[in-house]
Amino acid sequence: MSVIKKSHLFEIVSKDCAGRIGRLETPHGVIETPAILPVVNPLHQSIPPSELREIGAEGLVTNSYIIHRNRELRSAVLEVGVHRSLGFNGPIMTDSGSYQLSQYGSLDLSSREIVEFQAAIASDIGVPLDIPTPPNATFSRASRELDVTLERLREAISIERGEMLLAGTIQGSTFTELRRRASEEASRLGFDLYPIGAVVPLMESYRYRDLVQVIVASKEGLSPAAPVHLFGAGHPMIFALAVALGCDLFDSAAYALYAKDGRYMTSRGTYHIEDLRYLPCSCPICSTHTRGELAGDEGLIARHNLHVSFEEIRLVKQCIRDGSLWELVEERCRAHPSLLAGLKAAVSHSDWIERVDRMPKSTFFYSGPESARRSEVQRFKRYQKRFELRGRVLIKEKDDVVDDLDDFDYVMDFKPPFGAYPALLRESYPFNAEVTVWDHEAVLVAIENVRELIESNPDASFTLKKPGWVEEDLIKELEEYALVV
Ligand SMILES: [Zn+2]
Repeated sequence: MSVIKKSHLFEIVSKDCAGRIGRLETPHGVIETPAILPVVNPLHQSIPPSELREIGAEGLVTNSYIIHRNRELRSAVLEVGVHRSLGFNGPIMTDSGSYQLSQYGSLDLSSREIVEFQAAIASDIGVPLDIPTPPNATFSRASRELDVTLERLREAISIERGEMLLAGTIQGSTFTELRRRASEEASRLGFDLYPIGAVVPLMESYRYRDLVQVIVASKEGLSPAAPVHLFGAGHPMIFALAVALGCDLFDSAAYALYAKDGRYMTSRGTYHIEDLRYLPCSCPICSTHTRGELAGDEGLIARHNLHVSFEEIRLVKQCIRDGSLWELVEERCRAHPSLLAGLKAAVSHSDWIERVDRMPKSTFFYSGPESARRSEVQRFKRYQKRFELRGRVLIKEKDDVVDDLDDFDYVMDFKPPFGAYPALLRESYPFNAEVTVWDHEAVLVAIENVRELIESNPDASFTLKKPGWVEEDLIKELEEYALVV
């Protein structure tokens, strides 16, 4: 396959934040992203692939190493291909055995052999055998293992693989500079899909702050047009955040693994089925079974887990269409303190999100201090540098009545968290934001922006009509720049 073909494989059709709805072409059909691909064990399928498709799966992930290791299965799959073998005619991605490598320390198969095998069984998306360095490895180990992974990526790109798409996994443990180097190098080589690997331990231990840093660092080294897979992310409560940061594909072994332990997923977190008195879900399983029936049947819990996962992905997609993805992110991230830490980490990358974010969107809803530095506010901060003001400028709240308006050359609205903008724009996005609670952070950002506005317009003299509700010490900062009345 030529490198040029890859640019036709992923088409972005709608955007919001760094998230997008895209179409990933594979030899067995198109996957509309964001999408979640359930993981299927090639030896025993607890839910038949045909049923997975009915529940909502657009594609599957299965493990080529497990197929290869079992002699009987290997020859059967080589003969009929992985699609007929699993009874699923949609896109199938094959994992390489990296997870087994991380568990057993070594495999009896080279990366070249496993890529050639994936192509031979007609996988739609193959993955070279990368080394999944766990979080908090030493820098020298992470760097050394990344060199091996990159060497295998270089080798894989030259292997004859027919129509199979090839994924170049990004490693580098929790070192953002290594993740960035990995994605820059993989990007130079040119893959069809870029999985971010070895993040399961971060998610299992609720280290969402670190997860955000790893995702953003990996994304920074890639073209914004490149499709990205977050390997092993299968919990619905993380989808909105991960999609908003530009992840397009997810795989879920979690639906079945959680079910084994009686863990019932919701988009707000996980419940143990024994602790539930009510079923907070109306999926086909929960609406036709009692809590007691679910408690005794892991197959039912697994099916419910899949239903809520697909439901969340559909909601995320609708929010992308509506331009309200960030509102969903803020809502979801308030379900758990660690997710809130993830949200705060994401907000610290608003400048990066702003560069790819769309405009306009649905109405900006201010829901707390994290909203004060979201990408729209960062964008305004940049755009206000274009305001060229001369003469007398009045900054006041929208509803403030002023008798001597004619004395001023410009009238600007003061509205946290933005600052001051021409009053004529007050009904336009994003200044029509719903801001019903002005907290300290919103006012702080607004004052900071007003100060920058004044500083960049030395030919104008500014009068600020002080909003009564703003804390004295915050306004004090402006007194040396403007006449505060
Ligand atoms: Zn349910």
